[in-house]
Parts: sequence; structure tokens; C-alpha cells
Amino acid sequence: MPTPRPRRAPGTRGEHLAVLDPATGEAFDEAPDQQPPELDAVIDRAHQAWRGWRADPAARTTALRAAADAVEAAGTDLAPLLTREQGKPLAESYAEVARTAARLRYFAELDPAPRPVTDGRPVHSELRWRALGPVAAIVPWNFPLQLASAKFAPALAAGNTMVLKPSPFTPLATRLLGTVLATALPEDVLTIVTGREPLGARLAAHPGIRHVTFTGSIPTGRAVAKAAAASLARVTLELGGNDAAILLEDVDVERIADRLFWAAFRNCGQVCMAVKRVYAPARLHSHVVEALAQRAKTAVVGAGLDPRSQLGPVNNAPQLARVEHYTAQALADGARAAAGGHRLAGPGYFFAPTILTDVPPDSPVVTEEQFGPVLPVLPYRTLDEAVDAANGTGFGLGGSVWGTDLDRAEAVAGRLECGTAWINHHAELSLAQPFAGIKESGVGVAGGPWGLYQNLSPFVVHRPQEA
Ligand code: NAD
Repeated sequence: MPTPRPRRAPGTRGEHLAVLDPATGEAFDEAPDQQPPELDAVIDRAHQAWRGWRADPAARTTALRAAADAVEAAGTDLAPLLTREQGKPLAESYAEVARTAARLRYFAELDPAPRPVTDGRPVHSELRWRALGPVAAIVPWNFPLQLASAKFAPALAAGNTMVLKPSPFTPLATRLLGTVLATALPEDVLTIVTGREPLGARLAAHPGIRHVTFTGSIPTGRAVAKAAAASLARVTLELGGNDAAILLEDVDVERIADRLFWAAFRNCGQVCMAVKRVYAPARLHSHVVEALAQRAKTAVVGAGLDPRSQLGPVNNAPQLARVEHYTAQALADGARAAAGGHRLAGPGYFFAPTILTDVPPDSPVVTEEQFGPVLPVLPYRTLDEAVDAANGTGFGLGGSVWGTDLDRAEAVAGRLECGTAWINHHAELSLAQPFAGIKESGVGVAGGPWGLYQNLSPFVVHRPQEA
């Protein structure tokens, strides 16, 4: 049966967001541009729905399992729509859909069971966990479905209801996902709202919301934290990254080059924990640049719906302008493009996969988050110098170390100031592990049981052992 198309959101006053296909730069559909006052009724309904949803853990498990099945069954509708509005190759969109279903299944089975807590005194204390209430999620455009599910799967499993706002650049697949999930979830347990920045700002500040979980840029994260301070709602922030990959002296360049390249260029580099800078020993630097440049020159760039494409377009015009700006500034500062370095001719937001060398270490393409298909490769003389450079920004999301001696690589990885460090690969996450940035990359934890508890409050009942 075909997946039903989402209806226009009730209550919108006719305003709409035009949704562009980044492969052409042209609008192909629209979504409601909901206005902040509409949130009052939406959050009120989420509150009503919470009473029933929090009360029955077994019913929640059943509903979340059914939701996972429904997502899987709708894959052939969700994935092409996601590619159309986001730009990524179709295979990556299917992977997002699969991850969304897997995450629902994972959290459906987690059980925050009560347990005794004791300090040895003759008092029986039992720790139970309580749902928070209606919670809000605000997500960006790089992984619309996967990041939405990282919010709603643990929140709903914990017994909360949720109001979720996708990016105005990518509202369509998320709205369709909402329609699909509505076939398995009770009414108003998960509501998708679409609109621009003021809608997000109001959602973050709304007094009816008990937890605001946000993924996006650091400046918007700060604004969200400030807005949520009004109601003292809990805040989880998953923010930008500038992950470094450190290659060690004993690295086998040819063996790791493919993996390293795709760790930087998957989803056109628009991944919070993509490799965003490479540090190579001076002796190997030109070999590394050459190996990566060769892959950048031969990677197939094209519309995500074309099955030959390995890299799609940048998602939107402002982001393309940002990528162009960082690249132009690096080139003006003396960097050289070993591959790419420019926008591709023709329609759409395509940028040539770019490898930069001779980049000044204080160039913004190194110190800030480029979030696009551009990778600076920097030489280092001593390992301490490389570790200091890797740790020398305000970011602290992830990092990786690449070499043949795994024990040595692991020892270096332990020195990275970040939430996740990989050895000989990058950006692979298990559903069962905690995911948390440090420094300006985040506040709070997602993933695994920690992600569930981030959506719960501890509730302790004390009673004496005797009457
Ligand atoms: P963004 O911060 O511009 O927007 C994110 C979301 O916030 C959008 O839905 C947007 O409409 C909304 N928003 C904008 N202004 C708001 C406000 N004042 N109040 C509330 N909501 C508001 O980010 P983006 O450009 O969409 O995404 C790219 C950024 O996301 C990058 O920095 C990337 O590293 C980061 N990111 C982080 C993670 C992570 O897990 N750490 C994952 C993916 C992306």
C-alpha cells in the first residue's frame, strides 16, 4: 500500500516553505510555515497524550516495535523523498531509513527497571524513573530522519511525548515519517511541526516543554539554551564538530586512504563528526595529499537520485556560500588545491571534492567547521604538536588516530579531547554507546541507555525496613 502523503497542517494560515531540490536549485514542493502561536495548541495536545502514553510501558514497547516495522515498510517512499530534498545519494537515504527503524527497535526494548539504592543504613530506598512530560526536538538538515529518530526513539520509549521541528530546508521526509509513525503511535504522541527560526525559538522557550533536545550549530545551540532557561527545561545540545584525524608514522597510506576519504566526504562532508582536518607526519604528507586528491578527482559527483553518484550536492545555498568562502579564504592565505577548490558549473549546489595543502594552521578552514566537501591536510613534525593541534580548538566532538600498531594508536587516541575517538576509522557509532560532545560540541548525552536516562527523571522512594 502506498504511504499516505501528509496533509497540510491544520491551523496554518496558508504560509508555506518552498522546498528546493539541491541538485537543481529549484523548488519542487512545499511544507507549512507554521507560526509560533500555533504551538500552544500542539503542546497542549502533547500534554493530554502524555497521560496515557507514560502509564503503560508494555503498550509503548508494542507501539514502538510496530513503528519500526512501519518505517521499514515505507522505505521506498521515504528514501527518494529524503534524497530529493537533502541531496544525498539514494543508498545513503536508505541507510538513514534503516537506522531510524533500528533505533526504534533498540529503544523499544530498553527497560529503566527500578532498583534499590543503599549506603548501608537500615532504610530501603528504591530508585524508579519518571518520564518528563512533553519534550521538544529541533534538528538540522544533514540527517533529517536519523537525527529525528535519535530524538524521538529514546524520548518516546521513556514515556514522554514529543513535538519535533525539522530544518526548513528538509521538512518533507520528516513530515512523511510523522505520517508513517502515526499508523503505529497514539494520536499526539509525536507531532511534527514545520517552520522557520521563530517557530524553533518559541518551541525552545515554551513553558509547556520539559526537555529541549537540539542538534545543530553552536550559535543556535547557545540561543536554544538561553531560550530554555526561561522555563528551566532540561537541555541537550549536540553541536558542531571539527574532528581531526591524526595519521601516525607507521600508517599504511594506501590501505587506509579510501576509508579516510569517505570519513571526510560522506554526505558531501555534511556530517557533524566527519573528519574535517587531517594531520600527517611531514615525511608522509605529500603521499597522503596525493592519495586523497586522487580519490577526490575520481569520486562521481551528481544528483543523489542517479545511482552512479557517490557524492551529491551541498544541501542549500547559504551552506554552499560558506564552503566557497572558507575555501577561497584558504587559497588567498596561500593554500593550494590538490583537487577541486571550486564550485561546479551548471545548476544545483555542487562543489568539487577538494583537498587543500599548504594551508596556514590558523586558516578558518582548519579552525572552524567547514561542513562541506573540503578537507585540509596539514603536516606535523612531532606527535605532541599533532595532538596539541587536534585539541587546540573549541570543538570536542570526535577524533581518530590511524596507524599499524593498534596499541600505540589507542594510546594517542586517549589523549584526544572529545566524546568519541576511533582507531583506523571514523564516525561509526553503535546504537548502544553514549554519544556526547565536550567543550562547545555539546551538553548532555544521546545514545544507548544514557540517551534513555537523558529523557527521564530519577524518583526515589524511601521507607524504613520496619514499621
Ligand atoms: P542550525 O543551527 O542553523 O539549525 C538547526 C535547527 O535549528 C533548524 O531546525 C533551525 O530551523 C533551528 N533554529 C534556527 N534558529 C533557531 C533558534 N533561534 N531557536 C531554535 N531553533 C532554531 O544548524 P544547521 O545549519 O541546520 O546544521 C548544521 C550544524 O549542525 C553543523 O554545525 C553540524 O555540525 C551540526 N550537527 C551536529 C550534530 C551532532 O550530533 N553533534 C549532528 C548533526 C549536525
